[in-house]
Parts: sequence; C-alpha cells; structure tokens
Amino acid sequence: MSWKLTCQDAADGSGDLILELPDDLLEAAGWKVGDILELEGDLANGGAIQLKKTVLCDVCDVCGAGTAETGHGVLQAQWRDGEHDGLRLCRGCFDYAMATLRREHELSHMFDEEGQ
Ligand SMILES: [Zn+2]
Repeated sequence: MSWKLTCQDAADGSGDLILELPDDLLEAAGWKVGDILELEGDLANGGAIQLKKTVLCDVCDVCGAGTAETGHGVLQAQWRDGEHDGLRLCRGCFDYAMATLRREHELSHMFDEEGQ
C-alpha cells in the first residue's frame, strides 16, 4: 500500500514542512501519536521519501539501565544544518545531566552581575 501526501510549508519562517498523516495510513502502519518517525529520501529534489518508525530499545544510552518501567528523559538536538544527535537517559543520568548543566552555568555566571 502507498499514499501520496503533500507537505505544507510551516509558514513560520523556519523552512520546516508539515506532513499530515491520514488516519488510515497510521492504522495500516501501526503508528500512533508520540511515535518517533525517521524520514529518508531526497525531498528537496522532488523525490520520494520513506518514513519508518524508529524502534527505540528501552535502555539508558549512558549507563544501560532499563527504562521500560520508569520512562526516560531525552536530550536532543536538531540543528538547522541537518545535524541531529540525542540521548535517551534513565532518571539518574537525566537528573545528573540537568543538575550538572545548571550548576556549571551558575558557576560560570556567578560573578557576572557583580561590580556593576
Ligand atoms: Zn543512565
């Protein structure tokens, strides 16, 4: 089965595209809201693209702890140049990352407002 869908400009100046996925496609593919889909293909040249669901395994990318029952945190980057990166983290690693970022930021800006 195949669908022909048309992308819409997000019209927010970002250059992002919106692709609405019809319900029958979601049902046929077994996708649901919240699934992460990967897009492959050469859309810029009018070519066909392929969408596939990213199957994420339920372990922390840093320490390997299982996250199936606890849930997970995501540290994710999607840069305008197309580069993307990310980590799925267990609660311990996520809390550590958040606390470390905040502490380092506070330390490096601790004296910013003094002397004014
Ligand atoms: Zn972890």
